[in-house]
Amino acid sequence: MSPADAQPIAVARPLPRRSRQARVVWGSRVVTVGGDAPVRVQSMTNTDTVDAIGTAIQVKELALAGSEMVRITVNTPEAAAQVPYIREQLDRMGVDVPLVGDFHYNGHRLLTDYPACAEALSKYRINPGNVGKGDKHDRQFGQMIEAALRWNKPVRIGVNWGSLDQELLAALMDENSRRAEPWDARQVMYEALITSAIDSARLAQSMGMDGSQVILSCKVSGVQDLISVYRELARRCDYPLHLGLTEAGMGTKGTVASTAALSLLLQEGIGDTIRVSLTPQPGESRTQEVVIASEILQALGLRIFVPSVTACPGCGRTTSTTFQELAKQIDDYLRLQMPVWRKKYPGVEGLKVAVMGCIVNGPGESKHADIGISLPGTGEAPAAPVFIDGEKALTLRGDNIAAEFHQLVESYIEQRFGTPPSVSAT
Ligand code: SF4
Repeated sequence: MSPADAQPIAVARPLPRRSRQARVVWGSRVVTVGGDAPVRVQSMTNTDTVDAIGTAIQVKELALAGSEMVRITVNTPEAAAQVPYIREQLDRMGVDVPLVGDFHYNGHRLLTDYPACAEALSKYRINPGNVGKGDKHDRQFGQMIEAALRWNKPVRIGVNWGSLDQELLAALMDENSRRAEPWDARQVMYEALITSAIDSARLAQSMGMDGSQVILSCKVSGVQDLISVYRELARRCDYPLHLGLTEAGMGTKGTVASTAALSLLLQEGIGDTIRVSLTPQPGESRTQEVVIASEILQALGLRIFVPSVTACPGCGRTTSTTFQELAKQIDDYLRLQMPVWRKKYPGVEGLKVAVMGCIVNGPGESKHADIGISLPGTGEAPAAPVFIDGEKALTLRGDNIAAEFHQLVESYIEQRFGTPPSVSAT
């Protein structure tokens, strides 16, 4: 192809979302979900809700890590009784993150018998597969919707294939058996998930719920299943969608599976809130699920939460671990500071730092960053050029390169993002 025939290559971008917008509110904090709102990060505690202090502490950790809504289990009268106290503890600590109550089986009773709990929560998660069977189903579902109406709260109708409405599934299986060419059992299950979510949303609306206060989810644990179900769910309705791969698993497996599934759907404009349902490794912080969810959105260019650190993988040209250690130190440091910096240095989340291992790509990559360092590879002169705003600013030498670069990053942030001193009129 000659240069004259060349066409500009399209820039890949996530497709726009087309859902309506819901509002999840606590006090003056309003978290919009859907429409043109940013895709929201959610998480869920794994503490016993009866342990109000322990739960409040974990909610605070998740909120500081970037979770914009935090779900807590409300499974017993004792747990429901503690919800207002958890809210009060959070308010005292200045944490205004909205709390979402996760209800199964007895939510209709708990929301009725514990009005302070119903009031303290900002959203109710209702699983239509777990609200009762037969004629109890609609009545108990209706009681939860009544509570949502009474306290003016949005609901998430959260279907999960592990607790799918068995009566609905059986009816759809029967219907399928009468087809001339029956569908695959998996396709019937997809249909049951979507039907359960949309029919429940319509039932809630028929009871007086505003459609914009209904969020849907249909969680499954297989990547391809999730993609199939959400594509169809998004095609059939415009309710805001909460996206997550349920029971994603532990560590690398859970992270990769969630990232694969969520990224594909988000790129197609599907998904208004996300959660990464990661099983924590023993001793691992619960906040890891928030970090991964944020990283997915940041990697796709949908949101910016923390400054990015570009680091090369290292190779035979660099046999020391110095640059790995420096990259990790800088990454950890930036992340740790973010709760304070978000307020102190507006825009700091867009900072780009590069920490590179040798001269091959080091200077080039460092020039693309706001501030970057190219460490000496094996056999190179023991000097580390530092680039600031694309220009070589100085060269660090000696044993203190890491500490000195750390200091340079701090000064750069202060200078670029710090509030300029106000000039008083004379
Ligand atoms: S920048 Fe240098 S050390 Fe890093 S991967 Fe490339 S060649 Fe290897």
